[in-house]
Amino acid sequence: MDTDLLIVGGGPAGCAAAVMAASVGMRSVLIESGDALCGALRRIPVVRNVLTVTNGPDLAAAIEADLAQCDLCRVELGRRATLIDAFDDRVEVTVEPAESVESVEPRETLEAAGSDRAPRSRLTAPYVVVATGVGPLGPEGAGWLGGAAGRALPQLWEADPAAIDDRTVLVLGADRPLGTVARAHPELKARFVVAYPPEDSYKTEEIRRDPRVELVAVRRLELGPGPGSASAPVTAEAGTLGGERRTLTADLVFLNLGSAPAPPAGAVATDRSGYCPPGSQHPRVFTAGDLRSVRFQRIATAMGSGGEAALGAYYASRGLPVETGGPPTDVGGPPGPTGGG
Ligand SMILES: Cc1cc2nc3c(=O)[nH]c(=O)nc-3n(C[C@H](O)[C@H](O)[C@H](O)COP(=O)(O)OP(=O)(O)OC[C@H]3O[C@@H](n4cnc5c(N)ncnc54)[C@H](O)[C@@H]3O)c2cc1C
Repeated sequence: MDTDLLIVGGGPAGCAAAVMAASVGMRSVLIESGDALCGALRRIPVVRNVLTVTNGPDLAAAIEADLAQCDLCRVELGRRATLIDAFDDRVEVTVEPAESVESVEPRETLEAAGSDRAPRSRLTAPYVVVATGVGPLGPEGAGWLGGAAGRALPQLWEADPAAIDDRTVLVLGADRPLGTVARAHPELKARFVVAYPPEDSYKTEEIRRDPRVELVAVRRLELGPGPGSASAPVTAEAGTLGGERRTLTADLVFLNLGSAPAPPAGAVATDRSGYCPPGSQHPRVFTAGDLRSVRFQRIATAMGSGGEAALGAYYASRGLPVETGGPPTDVGGPPGPTGGG
């Protein structure tokens, strides 16, 4: 065995797993594909739901400092886990340099260049915590949205605030980054026209009182041609939930459709919505953080579940029963009107 516990993903869930594992004397190797820990946190300017914390970058820096002090955890940055195999007595994780996974160069070219990016390795441990989070959904999966597939539309959470000030912005989907932008930039004079399908309505609570936001619940929206710019506005034909036809016009258009997990291939079990509930996993595989469920996607729950996952591995290593905490094992359908978010 290379270590006591492998941890895949260095967000708040994976980092919490590492420090919890260390606290019970377990050595771990944490594999993170980015070039720093907690990349997602660094893009959250205002945080209001985590004790003692007011913004993401400060929290990321504090977590990074904690991991630097954690002698029992070895962090491997810039390395992507591509395959997880689970056996009766161990797990094996295939790890590759992140840039060679994303690179179009053939592997032989990298190897011939003698690059330290080239070799893949295989790490073995009794248990693995998988905490790879979620990534943005593209328009291809949004059945209510036409005319957007194949267009390089920007994500709302990446928007430059200066570029949207004083503009009318068409937001496709009501996912939570809209609340983040609105909270972080109360000074912005942007008008947000938010077209969203009925299944997103539970996400609108945190923005519906913002006077800059106009919510348009749609059955179908067909985006017109054009990139959207001050000189060439974008238009969209909406069929609203109320049965009206409306033409929406905006200076800029952004995707805000939500996210989905993309765990490494192999042993991680997914439910019918693509999420990876802890209760459905191989006994040597523990899932933590956002990839567990469409609900519970928060920093505090990610950290809590990371700690629980590491303790689960610890108890299992002692032959003690493991009670899997966290969300229900099957979260296939969209959240109901009173739940989730
Ligand atoms: C715009 C925005 C605003 C938000 N605002 C808030 C807020 O105000 N409050 C709140 O509580 N939550 C907020 N969230 C949600 C919060 O960021 C997440 O709940 C939290 O980051 C989840 O932690 P995680 O560790 O599960 O996943 P992540 O933070 O996504 O970390 C997963 C890590 O795994 C790495 N990874 C992925 N695949 C691999 C692989 N194959 N091999 C190795 N590494 C891999 C990724 O690079 C990433 O660093 C916000 C999210 C967004 C996008």
